[in-house]
Amino acid sequence: MRKKIVAGNWKMNQDYQSGLSLFSEVVNMVSDEITGDQLVIVCSPFIHLNSLVQLKKAGVNVFIGAQNCHQEESGAYTGEISAQMLKSAGVEYVILGHSERRQYFEESDELLSKKVNTALKNGLKPIFCIGETLTERNASIHFDVVKAQLEKGLFHLSAEEFSSIILAYEPVWAIGTGLTATPEQAQEIHAFIRKIIAEKYGQQVADDTTILYGGSCNPKNANDLFSQADIDGGLIGGASLKSRDFTDIIKALN
Ligand code: PEP
Repeated sequence: MRKKIVAGNWKMNQDYQSGLSLFSEVVNMVSDEITGDQLVIVCSPFIHLNSLVQLKKAGVNVFIGAQNCHQEESGAYTGEISAQMLKSAGVEYVILGHSERRQYFEESDELLSKKVNTALKNGLKPIFCIGETLTERNASIHFDVVKAQLEKGLFHLSAEEFSSIILAYEPVWAIGTGLTATPEQAQEIHAFIRKIIAEKYGQQVADDTTILYGGSCNPKNANDLFSQADIDGGLIGGASLKSRDFTDIIKALN
């Protein structure tokens, strides 16, 4: 059965101490809220990761993720971080393919497919982001765009490898803009994504895949979004920086 997940993406926010405080607040507030098939994943900047791993509470389904990793195993890549280093620090998830990485760091589908391979090889579970720009949606090619991102980034994987992937549908026009896809718009494309996965890997794999929605998700809209049949939770940017908002979004999983 697929999991219900709320993942927070702090992006390049929070200094060391404020990040640790935010995380502790969230863990304390959600400890009694998260049930067995639900997960919370906090994706912080690299400087916090190992400390957050230490602050996790045994028995509480809160896990730690990174926001990127390099495609190579190791070597002369100044300023980069490897999947193996993350894993060795207790990190279990990594966001790959975020639209900010695609846009500002020119990460291509081909590069992302290599990062996925390296992450999986080192035991990290990718939270793989896909989604169209406003121009693409207005041109009514959003289904094609999302399908191509899936095919080029992930469909070289075996069914077993694919089962470690968490997908996040994040329309670029909704990220950090305050514009949210309506629950119907999001459901329509989540159902399409699940159909494409079923065609490639079979219905069981598709049914077991967690597909998150991301894009200006907040405590007010989370309930309506998460109650859609094919929306299994959210990837949360801005609202993950406020413990109360993030906790309220987590509660919307129930
Ligand atoms: C994100 O960065 O993945 C995101 C969804 O951001 P926001 O919630 O701020 O739109």
